[in-house]
Amino acid sequence: MKLREKVLGGFLVSLLDISAGVFLSIVTAKFLGLKISLCAVSFGIISSLWLDLDALSLLKKGAGKWTHEHRNLFHFPLVVLPVAFIACYVLSNGYYATVVLLATFFHLVHDSIGIGWGVKWLYPFSHKNYKFFGLKFKERRIVSSWTKEEQRRDATLNGDDNWLRNLYLRPSVVLFVEIGLSLFLLISSMFVVMAL
Ligand SMILES: [Zn+2]
Repeated sequence: MKLREKVLGGFLVSLLDISAGVFLSIVTAKFLGLKISLCAVSFGIISSLWLDLDALSLLKKGAGKWTHEHRNLFHFPLVVLPVAFIACYVLSNGYYATVVLLATFFHLVHDSIGIGWGVKWLYPFSHKNYKFFGLKFKERRIVSSWTKEEQRRDATLNGDDNWLRNLYLRPSVVLFVEIGLSLFLLISSMFVVMAL
């Protein structure tokens, strides 16, 4: 895959999280009666993406059926949500702490509904991955959970080595839904800004 395709694919994979970061930073400012600033919106975007920082290595390696394993570094809700909230509260203020909490939570929910094998919602109490409305060994379930071994087996049998191209660089339901939701969030953000 060419670098241009990897960058475009990475942008489209991240578009819904970016839009949510913009929306949440603006809506939180509105609720707290604060002025919206470029700094605040930029922080919202960073807050919605920071969990995937380690995935930058994929620009070199390329995406494949084992891409989800990058989620084994930061995608632990019970750990990262309180740590991020407290760190931002101590280092800045309640506004930034609230934005990082909401945007990080959105990212984790998105990763648990969209593509991949979910996240470890109960870590450190359970090492299982959980996903909502997804397929486990091709069977659709409201809540699916995988042990590490089950996840490896499911990825080996049903993973797609070309998921980035097939889902994000060609017309697909995933692409249309995520672009639609992103537009909704960005347009809503504009209305909130005008109402501020
Ligand atoms: Zn992620």
